[in-house]
Amino acid sequence: MDFRLTEEQEQIRRGVRDVVSDFPGDYWQKLDRELGYPTEFIDALTEGGWLAALIPEEHGGIGLGLLEASLILEAINHSPANAGVCHAQMYIMGTLLRHGSDEQKKRFLPPIASGELRLQAFGVTEPSTGSDTTKLKTFASRRGDVYIVNGQKVWISRTEHSDLMLLLVRTTPVEEVQKKTDGLSVLLVDLREAIGHGVNVRPIDTMMNHHSCELFIEDLEVPVANLVGEEGKGFRYILDGMNAERILIAAECIGDARFFIDRASAYAREREVFGRPIGQNQGIQFPLARAYANTEAADLLRFRAATAFDAGEACGADANIAKLLAADASWEAGNAALQTLGGFGFAAEYDVERKLRETRLYQVAPVSTNLILTFIAERVLGLPRSY
Ligand SMILES: Cc1cc2nc3c(=O)[nH]c(=O)nc-3n(C[C@H](O)[C@H](O)[C@H](O)COP(=O)(O)OP(=O)(O)OC[C@H]3O[C@@H](n4cnc5c(N)ncnc54)[C@H](O)[C@@H]3O)c2cc1C
Repeated sequence: MDFRLTEEQEQIRRGVRDVVSDFPGDYWQKLDRELGYPTEFIDALTEGGWLAALIPEEHGGIGLGLLEASLILEAINHSPANAGVCHAQMYIMGTLLRHGSDEQKKRFLPPIASGELRLQAFGVTEPSTGSDTTKLKTFASRRGDVYIVNGQKVWISRTEHSDLMLLLVRTTPVEEVQKKTDGLSVLLVDLREAIGHGVNVRPIDTMMNHHSCELFIEDLEVPVANLVGEEGKGFRYILDGMNAERILIAAECIGDARFFIDRASAYAREREVFGRPIGQNQGIQFPLARAYANTEAADLLRFRAATAFDAGEACGADANIAKLLAADASWEAGNAALQTLGGFGFAAEYDVERKLRETRLYQVAPVSTNLILTFIAERVLGLPRSY
């Protein structure tokens, strides 16, 4: 297996870095203070075609694979920026590409590729069921040509900055299905029509600027034409997407870790205390060196998982492990960077404290560390199921 990047992949990294370099730390610090959304940044990425990376050329995108998409998100996070503002378009795209009808692809993909339509919201989590996804209660009952949807979702990010939302609902009660993964369906909700007409949105005050919301859904009408794939098979479609999501989040964490290590190493070379650079002390060197080694290991798993995903091979274990190792590596690197910068690590202008808050999310979402360990223990090692 060759883990070196091709010239085309190197160009992707350079192209994204060019865009990102126009949005320095003070741009993100201001947004963080004011809970703003980086519309200009999204526009610049869209103009470069980067957010349409996974959309096939015939529908106006650039038709790249998941590995390339992961390089794009990594390059964003390997800077003061945070790809959390736009990553959903990449990780939910697969559900539409693989399971959407031709009519849906023709209707939605070209305007998504051009930036006219934003597909940035993914509605899965519910307040009363959390990680136990198949127990979700939001229910869609069919009435003629529409589904009538009722329920509640929580933590749905970017709802206020998206035109479309992929929504996971129950269409058959859990008591009536043989397997609890059956009877779930995926609907494409047009938020431009739905907000105020069936969907009420309440932003959640959060540790970082992630634009997450609670959604109250009451008698929302969704055309049956917006059902993705077959009714009742939605969980399977979402699972595919979840592997993509884990690989892409791993890439973001790798980008974060590299940002922390670069910033801390530069600081440690320059900052002099007791008449010599602090980086000359092994107490400063070793945490950064260890974080670097763990980041490189996570990166290999990201490559292995993304390569298997793009080849259509099973990649569940690698995708989960990549996300676990990368989330740990970015947290470790951020913590080491904060320590290296001493008091200045706490100052917003160095971007470390903010990015540390941002990267902490990935120990919990989109799947928590415990549930990944459970997956490895039970699905890979064959240990007895705990739940
Ligand atoms: C900022 C943010 C943005 C998010 N964005 C989205 C989004 O856009 N769309 C969306 O659908 N969701 C989103 N989420 C939700 C996220 O996916 C969930 O928070 C996550 O899946 C965990 O679910 P929970 O919060 O309900 O925790 P719970 O399921 O209540 O778990 C709480 C804790 O208990 C542990 N735990 C639970 N069961 C077990 C077990 N059997 N064994 C061991 N430990 C266990 C978990 O690991 C976790 O640490 C977001 C969350 C946050 C915080």
